[in-house]
Amino acid sequence: MSTITSIATRRDHTWVQRAACAGTNTPDRFYPLPDQAEETRAAKALCGNCPVSDECLTEALETNDRYGIRGGLVESERIVLHRLSTVGRWEEDRVVAALNGRPVHLSRQEKHSVCVVAAILDLDLRIWAPVLGIGRKRALTRVREARAQFDAQPFLLRREQRIAGAFSPEATAVAA
Ligand code: SF4
Repeated sequence: MSTITSIATRRDHTWVQRAACAGTNTPDRFYPLPDQAEETRAAKALCGNCPVSDECLTEALETNDRYGIRGGLVESERIVLHRLSTVGRWEEDRVVAALNGRPVHLSRQEKHSVCVVAAILDLDLRIWAPVLGIGRKRALTRVREARAQFDAQPFLLRREQRIAGAFSPEATAVAA
């Protein structure tokens, strides 16, 4: 299979077997350069006839896949869609997944919750910080801010307290 088999998540992936690009063995087709309008059109045309284009697009948004064409959209088109779809979004499962280092494209509120829970539990930032797309220094700052907020207004952070109380880390290896 070509492009989509490289997307790494732990959800049901049986849909990839029905993809129009399955077995085409031409992954470059889905990574045209910005000035390759004809190639872009051709890849989008294939996606347009794909029976699992919705699943493909959802996967790309959820995993913050920033490269190539997914679900018939190039990255710049996906970003706009993602911003619209995540405004106000908050789901506990997504926060927990990110705390376990899984690739989830979080909303602003969900990112804040990750920082708060990480601060409460003193979690290893090497696991969760990359999911937020931030480095160690910025992660430490976010944790300090989250801890200060928690100390001052714990009643505003009940969702995060609930997650922290039930959090069960997956076995996630971190390179030393
Ligand atoms: S939408 Fe396009 S990239 Fe996604 S699975 Fe279908 S053909 Fe492949």
